Amino acid sequence: MIDSARLKTVFRTIASAMDTHRDRLCALDGVIGDADHGIAMTLGYSAARDAVDALDDTCDPTALLNTAAKSFLNAVGASSGPLYATAFMRAAACVKGKPVVEDADFVAMLQAMAQGMVDRGKAAVGEKTMIDAWLPASNAARTSWDETANLCESLSAAVRAANAGMEATASMVATKGRSARLGERSLGHVDPGAASAVVAIEAMREALCC
Ligand SMILES: [Mg+2]
Repeated sequence: MIDSARLKTVFRTIASAMDTHRDRLCALDGVIGDADHGIAMTLGYSAARDAVDALDDTCDPTALLNTAAKSFLNAVGASSGPLYATAFMRAAACVKGKPVVEDADFVAMLQAMAQGMVDRGKAAVGEKTMIDAWLPASNAARTSWDETANLCESLSAAVRAANAGMEATASMVATKGRSARLGERSLGHVDPGAASAVVAIEAMREALCC
């Protein structure tokens, strides 16, 4: 069972992990983009962390996740900002009316988040974006949950799938976002959005399973 206090811990852990990986994410973005992805992710998750930390622990998960969405979008208006904001709003809708997030709900939230990114970004797997990590990760979490009903097993499966998805982006040619103008030159480089997705999903596991 994950109450709002634990959801706050999830955001704190992700914000801290993004800060740790900020320079690496910027360097990855520098190869195929404008070198700001680590800064954007750190700003977005720090803003979300601060906003949810200011809420009372008795607030419901939907209110907390909608607050995270709004603050993330205010901090990061372009590119990945609206995608993560949509993801958090979908997660919020997923647990509407519930006083706490059950383990099964968290798996459903991951799927809702990934679908939100697909819808908002109008992207599919194979286009060298964060979707290449998020969608297989959320699907792997669902498959594992259906087999084990164990959240930590499911998050471990999500981390493995996210890493595999991120690695796969190195052999993809970008067709979406700023890196699309590089065309074939984007080959051989991992997508920074997929790399930060791995950071976020690993941090979720760390916050909920360690
Ligand atoms: Mg960028």
